[in-house]
Amino acid sequence: MPILLHPDPRLKKLCAPVDDLSDSLRVLADDMLETMYDAPGVGLAAPQVGQLVRLFVLDCIKEEGEEARPMVMFNPEIVAASEEMNVYEEGCLSIPEHYAEVKRPKVVDVRWLDRDGREQTDTFDGLWATCFQHELDHLNGKLFIDHIGAMKRQMITRKMQKLKREQARA
Ligand SMILES: [Zn+2]
Repeated sequence: MPILLHPDPRLKKLCAPVDDLSDSLRVLADDMLETMYDAPGVGLAAPQVGQLVRLFVLDCIKEEGEEARPMVMFNPEIVAASEEMNVYEEGCLSIPEHYAEVKRPKVVDVRWLDRDGREQTDTFDGLWATCFQHELDHLNGKLFIDHIGAMKRQMITRKMQKLKREQARA
């Protein structure tokens, strides 16, 4: 699936909750996982492929040889967040080749519906916690650059506008 690039109005929208987990949404989730692994990335949210629903996929296993852990999350929520914060250099498939340090809670208790519509809970720490929060932001129309200073955000946005103009001409 093509991944939308920032700036795009669809990346700024509040996504709608899933109340009926249809087969077409499961197919969308499977296609998104394939797109994410292909990119490659560690997470992908539905609005990044133009679908404004509360769904993202994640797999933060990066170690060579470690088994993949593909996760499909519908209606994801944060139940509790630690006071302790963590800083990660984040990137985004919708903002390729730009990175910035973002501070977020280090540990989050989370809840979601899995691919079969069953409620799941877990506690995420480190990279998984950061990824979950980054993807959840997407469902609320927020990007990681919304967490950084205005100067750097504007610089990245200008470079992305230029990249998109060049791609449109090619
Ligand atoms: Zn992203």
